[in-house]
Amino acid sequence: MDVLTLSGKVRAGERLSADEALALYRTAPTALLGQLADAVRARKHPDRIVTYIIDRNVNYTNVCVAKCNFCAFYRPVGSPDGYVLGFDELFRKIDETIAVGGVQLLLQGGHNPDLPITWYEDLFRAIKERYPSFKLHALSPPEVIHLSRLAQLPVPDVIDRLIAAGLDSIPGGGAEILVDRVRRELHCYGKATADEWLDVMRHAHRAGLRTTATMMYGTVETDEERLEHLLRLRALQDETGGFTAFITWSYQPQHTELGGSEATGVDYLRTLALARIVLDNFDNLQASWVTQGGKVGQLSLAYGANDMGSVMIEENVVRAAGASYCMDEVEIVRNIEDAGFSARRRNMHYDILGDPIFRERQVPRMLELATAREEGDASVPDELKYYPARSQAGKILRLQDGRKAERQKGKLEGS
Ligand code: SF4
Repeated sequence: MDVLTLSGKVRAGERLSADEALALYRTAPTALLGQLADAVRARKHPDRIVTYIIDRNVNYTNVCVAKCNFCAFYRPVGSPDGYVLGFDELFRKIDETIAVGGVQLLLQGGHNPDLPITWYEDLFRAIKERYPSFKLHALSPPEVIHLSRLAQLPVPDVIDRLIAAGLDSIPGGGAEILVDRVRRELHCYGKATADEWLDVMRHAHRAGLRTTATMMYGTVETDEERLEHLLRLRALQDETGGFTAFITWSYQPQHTELGGSEATGVDYLRTLALARIVLDNFDNLQASWVTQGGKVGQLSLAYGANDMGSVMIEENVVRAAGASYCMDEVEIVRNIEDAGFSARRRNMHYDILGDPIFRERQVPRMLELATAREEGDASVPDELKYYPARSQAGKILRLQDGRKAERQKGKLEGS
């Protein structure tokens, strides 16, 4: 089928098959792909509103046993650079988020064998007790699978327990490319196969949670595999309708074991446009300005995106791999409005919460992204001693902490 016929199908709102989508992606000029994606965007969002959310992207631990070769963020068990955030540290982060109009924590982390499911349950309950209306968008599918293996519980039971503790929705991280050949090469097949990732989302949707879906492209996948990823998401969305949004970003190679180079801005825009055309049952596509920078992020609004994602108060994972773009609400709104759209705040469900908050009240500017922890802060949260460690290194650490506490207690009693 030629480009003209395929373009006609997209403009008429007809679904493209795998072969048709691949042919369009391979042969259409970039500007045409953009126009087609923009036509789909305009059909779904004729009001010219572009949304964003104020939330905070917090990584509660960087200790991880998964060891994906594209990841520059994780530290192995026992590493002196490994950290686990304390409940109090997380409360402080939530306070700061609420101060700038934030409504949600995006909480993800490494697969830390020394954090049992009870740690997550206690954390979620403690957060909900202090901040009842604050939302927890937490634990990507591989983290849920990790917990199910640690607790030796089926995935649906883990999801039910997390919901009972306060989980509101699940972020679509850890999808990378949902093709097992690619996952094996990226050393992430063990953390979740393509089917396992999709199954977690299926269970979450059945349990009444809404989730997002993601794609990290630009590593070792072929065009066909990139497309297969999109088609698998489209099929699950047909089945459950549980995804609120799709986000794609390019692999960030710096400081990773896999190495290589980053995909170009044109590749990003073509991939985003392809996603907007193929994912005809997804309402929302986010611009990934965190990996592409503000300018390409703004251009995304002409290539199918209708949302600028998060204001991003904090970021650790992409920064570890070399990218650290920062835009606070003022900058995000400026980019949206200069592209000819109206900017509105939203929640995870894409309900409009209002106009930009800085126009309603004074909020502090955030011109630098926060990190999980200050450099050199190696403190160990006190409450960790209540949770049994699974790894040898974790058990030794807990023992040392216990002895330290005993010594301190002895000193106090002797004084
Ligand atoms: S991408 Fe996630 S699961 Fe993989 S090594 Fe990094 S922190 Fe661990």
